[in-house]
Amino acid sequence: MKSRRRKNIPRVSVLLPYPFSGPLDYAVPDGLSLKPGDIVQVPLSNRRVIGVVWDAPPLNAIPEARLKPIGRILEVPPLPASMRRFVDWVAAYTLAAPGEVLAMSLKANALRAEPPHYGWQPAETPPASARLTPARERVLAALAARAPLTTAELAQAADVSRSVLEAMAEAGLLVSVKLSRAPAYALPDPNHARADLSSEQRDAAQALRQAVAARKFSVTLLEGVPGSGKTEVYFEAIAECIRLGRQALVLLPEIALSAQWLERFVARFGTEPAVWHSELGAAARRRAWRATAEGTARVVVGARSALFLPFPELGLVVVDEEHEAAFKQEDGVIYHARDMAIVRARFAEAPAVLVSATPSLESVTNVQAGRYRHLALKERHAGARLPQVAAIDLRAEPPQRRRFLSPKLIAAVRETLAKGEQAMLFLNRRGYAPLTLCRACGYRFACPNCTAWLVEHRMRRELLCHHCGHTQPMPQACPNCGAEHSLVPIGPGVERITEEAAEHFPEAKQLVMASDTIPGPTAAAEAARAVIEGKVNLIIGTQIVAKGWHFPLLTLVGVVDADLGLSGGDLRAAERTVQLLYQVAGRAGRAQAPGRVFLQTYAPEHPVMQALVAGDLGQFLECEAAARKPGHWPPFGRLAALIVSAKTATEADAAAAALGQAAPRMAGVTVLGPAPAPLAVLRGWHRRRLLLKTPREMMVQPLLRRWLSAVAVPRGVRIAIDVDPISFL
Ligand code: ADP
Ligand code: ZN
Repeated sequence: MKSRRRKNIPRVSVLLPYPFSGPLDYAVPDGLSLKPGDIVQVPLSNRRVIGVVWDAPPLNAIPEARLKPIGRILEVPPLPASMRRFVDWVAAYTLAAPGEVLAMSLKANALRAEPPHYGWQPAETPPASARLTPARERVLAALAARAPLTTAELAQAADVSRSVLEAMAEAGLLVSVKLSRAPAYALPDPNHARADLSSEQRDAAQALRQAVAARKFSVTLLEGVPGSGKTEVYFEAIAECIRLGRQALVLLPEIALSAQWLERFVARFGTEPAVWHSELGAAARRRAWRATAEGTARVVVGARSALFLPFPELGLVVVDEEHEAAFKQEDGVIYHARDMAIVRARFAEAPAVLVSATPSLESVTNVQAGRYRHLALKERHAGARLPQVAAIDLRAEPPQRRRFLSPKLIAAVRETLAKGEQAMLFLNRRGYAPLTLCRACGYRFACPNCTAWLVEHRMRRELLCHHCGHTQPMPQACPNCGAEHSLVPIGPGVERITEEAAEHFPEAKQLVMASDTIPGPTAAAEAARAVIEGKVNLIIGTQIVAKGWHFPLLTLVGVVDADLGLSGGDLRAAERTVQLLYQVAGRAGRAQAPGRVFLQTYAPEHPVMQALVAGDLGQFLECEAAARKPGHWPPFGRLAALIVSAKTATEADAAAAALGQAAPRMAGVTVLGPAPAPLAVLRGWHRRRLLLKTPREMMVQPLLRRWLSAVAVPRGVRIAIDVDPISFL
């Protein structure tokens, strides 16, 4: 009889970056010593995949006969313990599979080793027979000054062709050596160009430096009016982090457009930080991942996914514009990067700093409850004043027919341009018109895949769905009734405002700032330069103009449709509108000349307009809090959404009804729905929503787990779980 149990094969658990329920067991081959965090190659079905040795003990569920051995350990730093805790925590919180969370951290292409790099040096004992031509002598002279050099460097330094070098190697005059790579990122110099801080800035910077030096977890909300120097202040915290030899992570909501931020970083620290976002090419991604894992990238600035980089020495996490909805990842693992940044900091025992001119009600409530520290900057830098904000009541002062700028706003723009100052018109809508209608039959162009109207993009001569990207050419005649010249645009987008502005201000040089005209960081940097150098008179922009820009010559901001974000019944519609418009308003008057802001609105009495005119967001947030408290709406209660989608309405309805029937029934817990989502059809999927609401003290995850396990989900039906939803579409 074979005694299989004579000696147990040693096992470890390995987490793979796939949506399995947990880590899998693998056999440890003789002579291989493994510890949690090691990044290993293992067999899976017929493939070789990469995984991480996990802390959980092996499950011992697979019999030894089927146990497969670990292949090898990759030559990369192990995944730090704080990162492994974080992966497990995010998975448990979002109800995602741990492997799906790990996948965000282990970008497979980031792990591939860089190809080795070779250079030339003179042979120590060149053969006496080797001939020395003048070209060859130049090569040896170049290497005498500095060796080794790469083929390209040496060919240039000695002014010879590659074939000369190859022949010299052949003749035994040169030998090839493997080069060590220079660090991918230079060390930022914490003392490169320190700003001369005002006393209020100095106090805040001092508090943040202390938080960094304490090497402990803490959360600070750094709140300051636009232009008060929040960036300068948190740069001091980064400087301290660098001095302590630790790593800092800065999350920005729109990293691809943060050209000005990068310029300021270089001015302050003398070198660029590592940058991380989804549009990075494979080589840049590999370089940034490696340097972060090795600890040589000391400052990383990134979009939300940078949270999953394997920092071994994380000493500070900054979330700039913490109130931004862009921090919420809405597909795949659904998580809020601001909230997860705090968890990341906690596992790394590092301070987190949330930065905003318009903090979220969540963060303000945490300050009031004593959970977060609060630092405030109340003055604009160098005595610049906050702009004067006024509402223009469109009922009393309407624009002309089929026009969108009221006479008062037009006059203000003229005045500003006449003084040689810059003006900005803000409208948070891309394209020409959000709806196209047939005047003859009333037909409206809708997306075939989504519950949405198609948006006319006149420059591209197309109708475009802003939800799924569907495009179709703009037809000449109505597809429904065949009438010609009967299609009319309804409502404005930035393109239409641009057209109107060109009529009113023909001499003004216009710049349109929208995601389709400014597709990436290079374009953003160019646009910013043109504005700062005064080559532009009038900026017309969508929400991308709201954030971060510092345009000293800009003194007037006109908000074309201040009511735009208020409809839709979203829990945070008013809060988000206030934040966005306050940010936009904050672009005006950042230098000496005072700024003015006009809000075109049909509801000047709305609390949002009142708060903006009074410049008092604190008061507004108090009202919001008072409105949300009684119903236990966030942040005074918890929400989780279930989004059911299926290819047919019948399947979606059936699955949603089954979920509705199995919904938890207990005191304090409310389940709303099922109901069709506002985007009832999206990319061809029929969608239904259920919303779970609990008191703050209650955890929603156990409820959700029990609820979902009680329902059999048919094939072809997807259920997405969104804990702490902020989009209700
Ligand atoms: P915020 O982030 O609060 O909007 P910024 O940090 O962008 O403010 O500062 C606004 C402008 O003022 C920037 O151009 C910044 O360089 C400048 N600034 C702020 N504080 C100082 C300072 N102490 N010394 C020099 N320039 C400063
Ligand atoms: Zn669509």
